[in-house]
Amino acid sequence: MVDTSRFAGATLTIDLGAIKRNYRRLAEMAAPAETGAVVKANAYGCGITDVVPALAEAGARTFFTALLSEAIAAREALAPWPEARVFVLNGYQAGTAALMAFHNIAPVLGSLPELTAWLADEGQGAPALHVDTGMSRLGLETGDLGSDLIDRLITQSPPAYLMTHMACADTPDHPKTVEQLAAFADLRKRFPNLPTTLANSAATITGLAKETDLARPGIALYGGRAVNGRPNPMEPVVRVDARILQTRTVKQGETVGYGATWTAPRDSRVAIVAVGYADGYLRAGSGGDSRPAGFAAIKNTRVPLIGRVSMDLIALDVTDAAPDDAAPGQTVELLGSQVTVDDVADAAGTIGYEVLTNLGKRYDRIVIDTEKDT
Ligand SMILES: *Cc1c(COP(=O)(O)O)cnc(C)c1O
Repeated sequence: MVDTSRFAGATLTIDLGAIKRNYRRLAEMAAPAETGAVVKANAYGCGITDVVPALAEAGARTFFTALLSEAIAAREALAPWPEARVFVLNGYQAGTAALMAFHNIAPVLGSLPELTAWLADEGQGAPALHVDTGMSRLGLETGDLGSDLIDRLITQSPPAYLMTHMACADTPDHPKTVEQLAAFADLRKRFPNLPTTLANSAATITGLAKETDLARPGIALYGGRAVNGRPNPMEPVVRVDARILQTRTVKQGETVGYGATWTAPRDSRVAIVAVGYADGYLRAGSGGDSRPAGFAAIKNTRVPLIGRVSMDLIALDVTDAAPDDAAPGQTVELLGSQVTVDDVADAAGTIGYEVLTNLGKRYDRIVIDTEKDT
């Protein structure tokens, strides 16, 4: 086999050391609660088989995925940590209890039909009991709690956790959060013996995990901004360094790219870079004459994205960068210390979660651990 990695348009570097430091920082914020880890969607695009052992080394023993297939991958990565627990957030699919028992995976039960199926299938291990307090997505409704299925669950398959999920924790002082906390306080009275879990990253950072038994951060582990309007206390985890294919001079008044949406305001040097929307670099981040676009960085110089994002290419205005650095064969930082996941998300009108989970279908993927390699 030919090693094709050197033909890639960009390298994607995942720093497991940064993930471990972010985990420990969150664990401090959540203490005395335990801190788990959400590793759904391939650990937010960072690679579940690499990320899960790193988190376990940092101390995580409770993991959440969205799908059973992801949970099996997490469990395989947890072979040296058989005591770790793995939960499937998306609930219980009838007929899978034996498979779940075989892999030592438990569901998060969030509806009466799921409870019925879990009890009928004689599910093993301790599930989580998910009650909706205002998200109106998954979870039992308060009215469901009168069902005798709940008592059967408590005796036949005692839950490991009473769980809820916060809708607006990313916006401090949101009235919805106050409502949800009050509803959850009532639930705790109804189930005084069940350990509790409520906090995503935002709720962990704003201090809500402390009152519970287990925090469930996701995005903050991977360096993304969890709380809006505040400095992000997390360390970046992901770098994308992309290759410059060509540079050219574009005269004032000439346009660049499809749709001719960018017109050079001055004579400009333009670098064409080998990354596009097929690499998960969102087309919505395209600029125009009237809208600010995303940016990349060459050393410490910000270089704006100009014109539309193509399938395999983007164009950058590198007029202000040193010519030797902005030359064919050199690389530009699309994500990293100068350009955060949230910078890219903001330019595309989306959130860091979407940037991360779209990353790197064709990148040369490199996993490092700055806690071991240096
Ligand atoms: C995704 C998810 C989390 C983690 O949320 P972040 O905002 O990424 O920290 C926690 N709990 C549930 C139920 C989730 O779906």
